Amino acid sequence: MSYSSDIKKELLSYNYTGRHCLAAALAAIININGYVGTRDGQTTIIIHSDNPDLIAKTVDITDDLFCRRISKDKRNNIVIEDQKFISEILKTTGVKDSTDFSVASPIDFYVVSKTCCKRAYIRTAFLCCGSISDPHKHYHIEFVDNDYEHADSLKRLIASFGINMKIVERKNHFVVYCKEAELIVDLLNVMSAHRALLEFENLRVVKGVRNNVNRLVNCETANLNKVISASVRQIKAIEYVAERIGLDHLPDNLKKMAEIRVMYPDASLKELGEKMTPPVGKSGVNHRLNKICEIADKLKGENNYG
Ligand SMILES: [Zn+2]
Repeated sequence: MSYSSDIKKELLSYNYTGRHCLAAALAAIININGYVGTRDGQTTIIIHSDNPDLIAKTVDITDDLFCRRISKDKRNNIVIEDQKFISEILKTTGVKDSTDFSVASPIDFYVVSKTCCKRAYIRTAFLCCGSISDPHKHYHIEFVDNDYEHADSLKRLIASFGINMKIVERKNHFVVYCKEAELIVDLLNVMSAHRALLEFENLRVVKGVRNNVNRLVNCETANLNKVISASVRQIKAIEYVAERIGLDHLPDNLKKMAEIRVMYPDASLKELGEKMTPPVGKSGVNHRLNKICEIADKLKGENNYG
């Protein structure tokens, strides 16, 4: 099962108790998966979804709201033709009638005035037209709407929770989407997809740890490069001194230091100090190697001017 359908399963099991939330949920279903149209004075509501669970949920919601069991056909269509019932549904959900069955209404903000109802609308909209990518692959959540005005009002509704989504047109559809992990977490929270949210957060932590390890490895590599380039510079200085005056002309402690540096070119200062007898601290090693470099520089200066 996909990550999306897992979340939808969780959201479908959400039970509404207040009439207000039921109305908001039904409004989302009709606006996204339904058509309302009037022809020859007769209004019809048609609701269709490829997801039989959503149609079953619609039947339950309508039953809870109006104490009336509507029927669905084998192809997951709900057709309502009772005029009195239709006007009751439109009044309750704030969905507008249209003449051509094609235009969805923007969200009636009176129907979603309470926070619980805003959440119910977004949750149901996700069931109708939402999808989310498997966070193992990438972060992406979207609502695919066929009406711009509705998509825009959905975007504004979601923005009321501080979650800013974007809209893009794709094949005659309007896609309200977001790619930011933090906002996706917020949105899952708004929809009360708590199990999905936990899973998402766990994965983010694992990914975060992995990123940190990578960052550390890169950092180590950078440090290692620094150690090596310092070592190369020191060894060049030692070779220069050896060539010009011979290491025997160095004070004993510097001579010993120079020999060990050349013997262990990739050792750190601390490691070099441990190889000395008696052992020398890191700063002692640093001091001695600097001294050798200074001597080399001085010899080069003499060479230049001499
Ligand atoms: Zn409510």
